[in-house]
Amino acid sequence: MRLAPIAILLAGLPLSAAAAPTWQTISSEPGKRIELDRTSIKREGNVVQAQGRVVLEKELIDGKSGAGYRVIEAITRYDCTGRNANTIKRIYKKNESEVVREEETKGAELPVRSGTLDDKVLREVCRPPKDSQAEIAQKANEAATQLKAANDALLKKEMAKAEKPPVVKAADSGHGEQSAIPSIRPNLKAQMEAAKESAKEAAPPPAPAKEAPSPAKPKPSMVVVKTSAYDAPPAPKPKKPAKQEGYMLEVSPSGAVVQHAHTHWGYEGAGGPENWANLDPKNKVCATGERQSPIDIKDGIKVDLEPIQFSYRPSNFRIIDNGHTLQVSVGESAITLTGKTYELVQFHFHRPSEEKINGQRFDMVAHLVHKADDGSLAVIAVLMERGSENPFIQTLWNNMPLEKNQPVSPPTVVIDPANLLPASRNYYTYMGSLTTPPCSEGVLWLVMKQPVQVSQDQINIFSRLYRNNARPIQQTSGRLIKEGR
Ligand SMILES: [Zn+2]
Repeated sequence: MRLAPIAILLAGLPLSAAAAPTWQTISSEPGKRIELDRTSIKREGNVVQAQGRVVLEKELIDGKSGAGYRVIEAITRYDCTGRNANTIKRIYKKNESEVVREEETKGAELPVRSGTLDDKVLREVCRPPKDSQAEIAQKANEAATQLKAANDALLKKEMAKAEKPPVVKAADSGHGEQSAIPSIRPNLKAQMEAAKESAKEAAPPPAPAKEAPSPAKPKPSMVVVKTSAYDAPPAPKPKKPAKQEGYMLEVSPSGAVVQHAHTHWGYEGAGGPENWANLDPKNKVCATGERQSPIDIKDGIKVDLEPIQFSYRPSNFRIIDNGHTLQVSVGESAITLTGKTYELVQFHFHRPSEEKINGQRFDMVAHLVHKADDGSLAVIAVLMERGSENPFIQTLWNNMPLEKNQPVSPPTVVIDPANLLPASRNYYTYMGSLTTPPCSEGVLWLVMKQPVQVSQDQINIFSRLYRNNARPIQQTSGRLIKEGR
């Protein structure tokens, strides 16, 4: 299960709505998306200044301030003809609004390599406006008219003086339009090149290797040594090559953590569960924790458990494919247990079920993540088995986002999370952890004993997105499991 990103997103939403820049996503890839504020674009001939930003899914730690950030805004000047970039300012933010640190950079102009983040922004900002053809024609007309007028005036003057008509001279009369015409050619050239580049890229899906040759990427040796912002050696660090300064967003000064943005956690390969702890010092407990989830739920003590009080309400919803699962957030819904109220923050799905019951997995599971005012978490797991079609799930699948990290909020569709619950509210309970990095412990698990049904088609649809997004079973290590009788 996954909590932090959505919480940050939710916290950021009202503020971003009020903020001035209008961010538009121009590229989305695992772990980050690149956005551009079109209202910031300033053109001076072939040079375009624009504000872009990278929104990371996972927070990174700023090496200078020790604070976490998830958004990096950058003001960069792009030379559309020479395909150079020069970042003049970067702003690191905790979320949409909270600034961690600002830095002015004095970098040199650097060539923009194909496939980089800067390349993506450059292509957007250097693309001439849609009506450029009309503009060109109009400017040419204006220039011709003014040239003619100037000629006519000169001609008249010269005629009056009875001298020969100097036609050529009028062309240097200093009107801006004159210089505007030659500047168009390189612009078009850059545009054609950009078009060629994007055609190249459109064919195969972007390979992760593309990011590898970035000169901004810290050397692996930096990664191993530093574990936090606080144990930096007192020795002065060698000056970073000026090279790094000029680029826009793929660079972060906190070398140690940037690496992690490149190896993203997942369920197989280098980012797989056995490596989660190595990807980021913050994930340490994924490997060392002794109260981790999921577990095989068995040998519980059978007791009378306090019924969970559900205050689930129908509301609109927001669904996102966050690269790990489909995740849904709803309006005001909550549960109460042992006198404590936990708000429903989000729910999401795993296939197959992460938890086992007496050694058996289910086809899927929904995790409903709740948070109390004191920050403590309670997760309700609803196991899902193959059977009849589930109308609640169907509503969600009907509104499944087409793109990763681009949420869908259907304006007229209402769901009631109570419809996801089984008829019997009896449950197992134990203390565990988040089942995704950073694997934080102290999570109260409430696993519904009765599964709900979903159709084979509905399981297949989820499988198209996530064939396997279940963390392996963790050691129970003598933990007490209670089973409602
Ligand atoms: Zn989960």
